[in-house]
Amino acid sequence: MQRRNFLKNSSVAAAGLISAPLITSCANETSSKAETTHSTKVIRPIAICTWNFKNATAKAWEVLSEGGSSLDAVQQGGMVEEADVTNKTVGVGGRPDRDGNVTLDACIMDKDGNCGAVLCMQNIASPVSVARKVMEDTPHVMLAGKGAEKFAYEKGFEKTNLLTEQSKKEWLEWKKTSKYKPIINIENHDTIGILAIDKNGDLSGACTTSGMSYKYAGRVGDSPIIGAGLFVDNEIGAATATGVGEEVVRTVGSFLIVELMRQGKSPQEACEEGVKRIMAKNKDRTDFQIGFIAINKKGETGGYCIQPGFSYRTYSEEGHINTPSDSYLKA
Ligand code: ASP
Repeated sequence: MQRRNFLKNSSVAAAGLISAPLITSCANETSSKAETTHSTKVIRPIAICTWNFKNATAKAWEVLSEGGSSLDAVQQGGMVEEADVTNKTVGVGGRPDRDGNVTLDACIMDKDGNCGAVLCMQNIASPVSVARKVMEDTPHVMLAGKGAEKFAYEKGFEKTNLLTEQSKKEWLEWKKTSKYKPIINIENHDTIGILAIDKNGDLSGACTTSGMSYKYAGRVGDSPIIGAGLFVDNEIGAATATGVGEEVVRTVGSFLIVELMRQGKSPQEACEEGVKRIMAKNKDRTDFQIGFIAINKKGETGGYCIQPGFSYRTYSEEGHINTPSDSYLKA
């Protein structure tokens, strides 16, 4: 089993680059230990994201460091990954559903609780940008499928082929050996959830994904669902999720994390509690992975991810960008 780094990059507002280690701790779940502690350092502005999407936090940081809003930062950070054809879990180049269609989910939420989302949208390269348009230009929160695509064209987005040759090749290979059911492989999904606080102390978040690889046509996970894949409360904090979306939807995961912070938990404690609640309901399952990252109003961060056999806490509190390497991955 490959182990993956979870919360990878952090951009902070301190002058220049402060060098401090990113700490990733993995522990065998049977020993139920994850040794590192969370970040209680107050850092603002800041942008954090799930997984190893360092180009996304670099972009978000660029926006924040120029005095831009957290909303622009999370959108532009998300767009970087959506445009990256080598990233097979988000945007162009994302893995298709089992019928060979790439369908994208995304949402965005701002400091005032405004939010927008697109679900199961095809042929548009930047779902997070369409989600923002839904938020700003319509009285709605969610647009799905053909309606979302039509709206995107109306707003000037271009039709784009999202299925790259490489993704198509892999899908065709998968079809040969699969039993033609959606894969629940922990290595076959990775969403970018990105959270930021700007210089004014305002929070925003975004979440964008091609969803679970080779999913049933029409399947939508947690990522575009406000409260599940993402939640922002500008008084308290923000959280976003990655992993098997069905479980995050069932527990309204990101809302739960923010509410736990409201009750006084640190972002790290909240993420751990949220993941553990999900795992407690799924004691017998060995086929999934769940992770949350969170940030509170002060700029403290936390992240926790669990998958069968491993749990790991990760956070970073260094300057600008940190790119952890596999040396951080320990059983
Ligand atoms: N949460 C996403 C979904 O279920 C997938 C992922 O995070 O990897 O669609």
